[in-house]
Amino acid sequence: MTEWYEVHEHDVLVIGDGGAGLRAAIAAAEAGVSVGVVCKSLLGKAHTVMAEGGIAAALGNLDPKDNWEVHFDDTIARRSADQRLPHV
Ligand SMILES: Cc1cc2nc3c(=O)[nH]c(=O)nc-3n(C[C@H](O)[C@H](O)[C@H](O)COP(=O)(O)OP(=O)(O)OC[C@H]3O[C@@H](n4cnc5c(N)ncnc54)[C@H](O)[C@@H]3O)c2cc1C
Repeated sequence: MTEWYEVHEHDVLVIGDGGAGLRAAIAAAEAGVSVGVVCKSLLGKAHTVMAEGGIAAALGNLDPKDNWEVHFDDTIARRSADQRLPHV
């Protein structure tokens, strides 16, 4: 069986087409470089499209203890088996 593949060359390659990846791709494109986006499933089939309740953010405007560090700890750091990952 003959293997067939295409070669695409880009200055920046973004892995993942969720909100984070697409935002990074937009920023790179705005900086004037060519950008490729790689996803492992259908384009746009990411957790990002499931978010319906708005964007969660800890602004600390109601309670000064409600800051981004607490939000980070609650939502990411405590749920990651590999504690190195949240700090990347
Ligand atoms: C049901 C649900 C509801 C949610 N509701 C809300 C909400 O109301 N408000 C809120 O703020 N947040 C919500 N969230 C959380 C929010 O969706 C995520 O925090 C956010 O979308 C993460 O964005 P992301 O770009 O980092 O990751 P994702 O959107 O998960 O994108 C990651 C992308 O990377 C791709 N990928 C992964 N591994 C590879 C690989 N090896 N090679 C190529 N591609 C790869 C995936 O296929 C995917 O497309 C919700 C999440 C879920 C699941």
